Parts: sequence; structure tokens; C-alpha cells
Amino acid sequence: MSAPHIESVDFFYLSMPNIEDVGDGSQDACVVRVRAGGHTGWGECEAAPLPSIAALVCPMSHSACHNVLDSVLGAPLRGPEDIHAIGTRVRARSLDLLQAAHVLSGIDMALWDLLGHMRGEPVWRLLGYARTYPKLPYASVLFGDDAQQTLHKARAIRAQGFRAAKFGWGPYGTGAPQLDADQVMAAREGLGPEGVLLVDAGTVWVEDVDRARQSLAALHEARATWLEEPFVSGALHAYAELARLAGSLRLAGGEGAHDYYMARHMIDHAGIRFVQIDAGRIGGISEAKKVADYALARDVTYVNHTFTSQLALSASLQPFAGLEHSEICEYPLEARAVAYAIALERLERDTDGYIHVPEGPGFGMQVDPARFKPYLVDTEIRVAGKTLYKTPVV
Ligand SMILES: [Mg+2]
Repeated sequence: MSAPHIESVDFFYLSMPNIEDVGDGSQDACVVRVRAGGHTGWGECEAAPLPSIAALVCPMSHSACHNVLDSVLGAPLRGPEDIHAIGTRVRARSLDLLQAAHVLSGIDMALWDLLGHMRGEPVWRLLGYARTYPKLPYASVLFGDDAQQTLHKARAIRAQGFRAAKFGWGPYGTGAPQLDADQVMAAREGLGPEGVLLVDAGTVWVEDVDRARQSLAALHEARATWLEEPFVSGALHAYAELARLAGSLRLAGGEGAHDYYMARHMIDHAGIRFVQIDAGRIGGISEAKKVADYALARDVTYVNHTFTSQLALSASLQPFAGLEHSEICEYPLEARAVAYAIALERLERDTDGYIHVPEGPGFGMQVDPARFKPYLVDTEIRVAGKTLYKTPVV
């Protein structure tokens, strides 16, 4: 029997009816379906849908700027080595197409899901893990507009039984340091003394170490476990300097990494103690697993970055599912309705507050396009009279 080949790659542009100008990436979605050998796999790019679709199908600009589909369609899919080969080919042939990393992420994810279904195995086992360990989910939310709102949010999270929470973005870091202190202390008060508190500055200080250091005292006082993304991903010097000033407060970052090397540079040169990888951005499960292996060897804790759907959540857990000491995981709590229309299942907490990586084939999640159809954005890309993309029929 001949090897299965990739027969189709379909992108679905989903969106809420209105997109708000807030730091919430769950308002739209770019969902990927791949078919081969009678099986289907699902993935999700953590990316703006339209530019991602454009990068999937755009006309070639030159030999290092092919569209992504060119390197995927028709490729054989016998095992993990074929998925790695596809990634290598996309990176080479789409070297100058910056959106390609996002596009590859969703495709790579879908290919692992498909391979899992083909073999009747969960992806984490295909990645080499013999078993999984429970993950402690932290409720991931935005800061309130003021400290009072944050206090209410934190109390609600505690009332829902979460043992950890992360507050981020919103007004944090944009005004006087005292306002940051008020926000962080409100979060601590609402969570109670036991809750794990994480703070995400959302790159607000770009590379301004002096401004960032003014918020350190309150983070210590509130006993925050980490300060996330004080700076943009590439500002390694600023990270390293702040890490030296931060004492017992640890830095986290890495969600902006678009390939293994960016994440590796952060591990090696930014002084971070937690590396946060979005499998929907870094190039998929394949690249994320490489980072997990590297982080483990460098004694840096791997954490998923996931703010969107439960499909993305299950996918993002696979690369570190078998790492016992990478216990904490991001858990989207305020995702919009569109994010919940993608996968049928939800990863619910057990009585101890932990979630478990699914045991089912692939990501252990079922996706039914009929459920997300109400959010589908009718899209067509035409170039020189030729239709390059049209929303797949659901
Ligand atoms: Mg973040």
C-alpha cells in the first residue's frame, strides 16, 4: 500500500461579530484542517486569520518566498519524520515570508493530530513521553481597568477554586508605578494568601529597565511568582539586566518566539526562569517540543502560552505533557464564544484543581465545523482574475 499523502489543507477564518481593541487574542481564530489517508487533523494558528490565509496561498515572489501550501500539499505523511521534513521545507522555501511561521504552526499542529488519529495514539506519546503528569492551571485574565475591578476578578477566580491566576495587560505599566502597585496588591488580596499570583506586563516597557524596576517592589510585596514579558521578546539585554535586579522574583517570557532559535536565545541570554511557548506561533508542536527539551536541559521551566480555544489548549500541553516538574499551565478563562465553538470538549479541572492531558488519539479533541459555522467569515482572495482562496464549504 502506498504511503498516505496530504490531500487537502483548509483554513477557516472565524471571528466574533465585533473585535474590540483589547489585549484578548480569542476574538477571532484561524482554524486549520488537514486530510490524508482517510484521516483528518485539526490545528489552530495563533495569528491574524487573513494575513495567514494570504501566506498560505499567495503567488510566489521568488525562490525563498513561496506560499506555504506549495510545500505541504501532496507531501507524504508516514510518521513524525515526515512532519519534521515538511517544517524544514516550509522554513526554507518561505524564508522571506514572515507570516509563514504562524501558518506552519497551525498546519504542523493539525499534522500531529492527524498522525495521532492514524495511529490511534495521543500526540504526547508520539513525541516520546511514556506518561503524562497533571498540570496546575492558572486562570489567565486581563487586569481590570482599575484596582477595584481587579480585586473583583481575583475574588471570582478564587471562588471558582483556581489555585493560581495571572493578571496581565490592561492598564498595567502604562501609568504611574503606584497604580501598578495598587493593581498587583488588589490581585493578591482577591486571590488570598495561598494563591499563586503571576503578573504579565504585556511588553509594556519595551526595553526600559528603569521604568520596569520601579514596579519590582510591589511585585515582591505581593509575592508574585513571576513577572512576564516586561519587554519585547528581542530585548534580551533588558531582560538580563532586570533579571539581575529582580532577586527572587523570576522573569517569564517567550510567547513572541516565532522559531526555536528565538526561544533558545531567551533561555540562554534573557535570564528568564520560565519559557512560555505558543505552539500556534512558534512553528507548531515540532518546534515547541524542541524548546521543551532545551529548557529541560537548561533548568528553565517550560510553560504553554494559550489564550484561545480548548483545541489550542490541548495542543499546547502536548510538548510538555510528560515533564513532571513543568507543572503550571496557562488556562484561558475569559475566551470569547468563538473559541468555545471550535472543540467539543473542555479540559475541566479535577477535585484537586488539576487538568489532565487527554488520552484520546491526536489531541483527544473533536472539532465539528457545523459548530463554528456561525462565526465563519466569508472570505475570497482573487489575484489577476484567479481565485486563490475561498472559504471552504461547511
Ligand atoms: Mg503574556
